[in-house]
Amino acid sequence: MDSLNLVEISRSALIHNLAICRSHMGTTALMALVKADGYGHGMIDCARILANEKVEAFGVAEACEGQKLREAGISSPIFVLVGSVSPALSCILDHQLTPVLTDRAAVPELAALAQRKGQRIEVHIKMDAGMGRQGIFPSELPALVQEIEASLWLQVAGIMAHFPMGDVQGADSSTQVRATFGDTTEQIRRLIPRKCCLHLANSGGLFYVSDTCFDMVRLGISLYGYYPDGHIGRDTASPPLLRPVMRFSTRIIQVRHIPAGTGLGYNHIFTTKRPTTIAVLPVGYANGYLRNLSNKACVLIHGQRMPVVGRVSMNLTLVDATDLGSVQPGDEAVLLGNQGEASIYADEIAAWMDTISYEPLCLFGNLNRRVIVD
Ligand SMILES: *Cc1c(COP(=O)(O)O)cnc(C)c1O
Repeated sequence: MDSLNLVEISRSALIHNLAICRSHMGTTALMALVKADGYGHGMIDCARILANEKVEAFGVAEACEGQKLREAGISSPIFVLVGSVSPALSCILDHQLTPVLTDRAAVPELAALAQRKGQRIEVHIKMDAGMGRQGIFPSELPALVQEIEASLWLQVAGIMAHFPMGDVQGADSSTQVRATFGDTTEQIRRLIPRKCCLHLANSGGLFYVSDTCFDMVRLGISLYGYYPDGHIGRDTASPPLLRPVMRFSTRIIQVRHIPAGTGLGYNHIFTTKRPTTIAVLPVGYANGYLRNLSNKACVLIHGQRMPVVGRVSMNLTLVDATDLGSVQPGDEAVLLGNQGEASIYADEIAAWMDTISYEPLCLFGNLNRRVIVD
């Protein structure tokens, strides 16, 4: 028996979003970010769909994710964006993953491993062009490039950086990062005898910052159907718009008629003001429907928005369905996605949770039964 809670992933929406993104990119190559199990959408399923649509490369955080993709038959380049460090380096070589180096620490071990295999390894370098997180400062980049190039067994195949404010239209920071990346890589080109793959933009960089495509863009959230700043259909993105890929639904397990003046659930943070019909849902924070959605969220029942009332608990959520008239156990309740004409977007849920769409998508997708539809 399957869980009553179900996450559906739309193959056609994913392919639609890929086409929309491509239309903003010209002929630039695309790295699809499938870290965090494809932002909750299923790393392997999404990678198979996207590889079939000729996406050029995939990006993961850690080598173990890349290994899983290889074992699932993905043969495209796979970039290890976060964890290209000891002790993951041998896994990276064994599975022909592309390491993204952030400093010199991994260089000697990587060169030794490559020599033992008798195989020349291509590496990319992550530069901190203003993100202030991971990577090497622009001033340190030439020395690192020279050190790598001096090894017989390693060669620099690419350089990347990341925007801290790509999701903010017109941010000065983005202009600055774009300039730093452009200037620094221009100097580096002269140190490398071959073509070097430059990549800077994420979804925000692609949609909201001009001239950031370079040789490749790295897209995550937009492939899954959301704009990084939470707007549902920005004016810059002329129609057709991105389409959310994930839908999260459950089934009503009990319908109760409760008198006015009754406290509901833990701590009684909601008291009925009228005779109330409550639909009980078998979903809670264990399913990623977080406790801070208590008294805030809405769900769709019969194509209409109904408020969540009282505390969301580990496996139970209450909905005030009084205004619906008739409602039955077994009826579908949609927590994310569409039902009839109505929709709830991850951006809305994120606002209720005081976060960004990425977070409920990861939570719902990674904590519930998931199927591909379409
Ligand atoms: C996750 C990630 C991306 C994708 O960002 P989106 O905002 O989801 O498009 C791009 N680059 C790096 C380095 C990342 O870690």
